Amino acid sequence: RVQRRNRPCRFDIDQFTPSFMSIFESLVPSDEEISKQKQLLTALSKLINKEWPNAKLFLYGSCANSFGFSNSDIDLCLSIDYKEMSKVDIILKLADILHAGNLQNIQALTRARVPIVKLMDPNTGLSCDICVNNLLAVVNTKLLRDYSQIDKRLRQLAFIVKHWAKSRCVNETYRGTLSSYAYVIMCIHLLQLRGILPCLQEMDPTYYVTVDNNTCAYFDQVDRLNSYGARNKETVSKLLWTFFHYWAYQHDYTKDVISIRTGRIISKHMKDWTRRVGNDRHLICIEDPFETSHDLGRVVDKRSIWTLREEFERAANILQYDPNPSVTLFEPY
Ligand code: ATP
Ligand code: MG
Repeated sequence: RVQRRNRPCRFDIDQFTPSFMSIFESLVPSDEEISKQKQLLTALSKLINKEWPNAKLFLYGSCANSFGFSNSDIDLCLSIDYKEMSKVDIILKLADILHAGNLQNIQALTRARVPIVKLMDPNTGLSCDICVNNLLAVVNTKLLRDYSQIDKRLRQLAFIVKHWAKSRCVNETYRGTLSSYAYVIMCIHLLQLRGILPCLQEMDPTYYVTVDNNTCAYFDQVDRLNSYGARNKETVSKLLWTFFHYWAYQHDYTKDVISIRTGRIISKHMKDWTRRVGNDRHLICIEDPFETSHDLGRVVDKRSIWTLREEFERAANILQYDPNPSVTLFEPY
């Protein structure tokens, strides 16, 4: 099935911007919620440091990358020197520490791909997941937040795309569709191609860290880039149209990899991602910005790729023809 199409955008797309913006605003967490998250981070850090004075707790994921919705769970990462203890031992010990500290619903998931402790804090009502020594996630969280500070359209576009993905049930990695992290990367890539965002990893680095033999380096003085995208005046509804048309009708699924590390489309051939290796099928290829051998599309299988592509087409067609796209787009699956 090859269906590539260059369709001109409907002339009246911009009239829908106010309704998409009000959806965006309804999803943004309040200042009160953000201060509750900080409060929980402080309380948990204190509790953990009593037992492990040199450990440090970091926020990562949606509550720290600026792409989090109101009422989302909190992702935390415990950084600890664990030479004497295995990761599973740390998780079990962590669960004990939390038990002693009046936290509820504590579960140690030691057999998950990424072992975590889940808990609920009765003071703030917040739920969170704590993983151990997953510092690459802390660094990619900072990269996403830095990009979001360059042009406000990134945050608006990514919120709407995430809301669409959740409404249409295509944000479920355990069922072969994409993570929120992958959707945000897809949005960054589009805005790089539109000249709205630069490619921070191609600029002279001002930030460097080495995590598990991966060097992460990029330009992070983003306050100096806040007029970068000003020449492009496209509205969020036009960008949304472009996003879905790209993934429905323009992306070459047989040959292309999107890469925010380079700010370009690169070839599957060059990455040797043209065939299935183990469980990695490479049916939609999204390069991780730091772990470049890692395809964020590897969770997608031969059935879910069609679910995804049908949803991209549905969204593209709604944005092109529907009289009320800001409602129809999010109708539950
Ligand atoms: P949601 O609002 O849906 O919870 P989220 O931003 O927390 O969104 P997730 O996809 O749950 O997004 O990922 C949380 C964090 O975990 C990401 O910000 C990223 O740092 C890290 N992460 C997730 N998936 C990957 C992956 N495949 N490779 C590397 N890091 C990842
Ligand atoms: Mg999350």
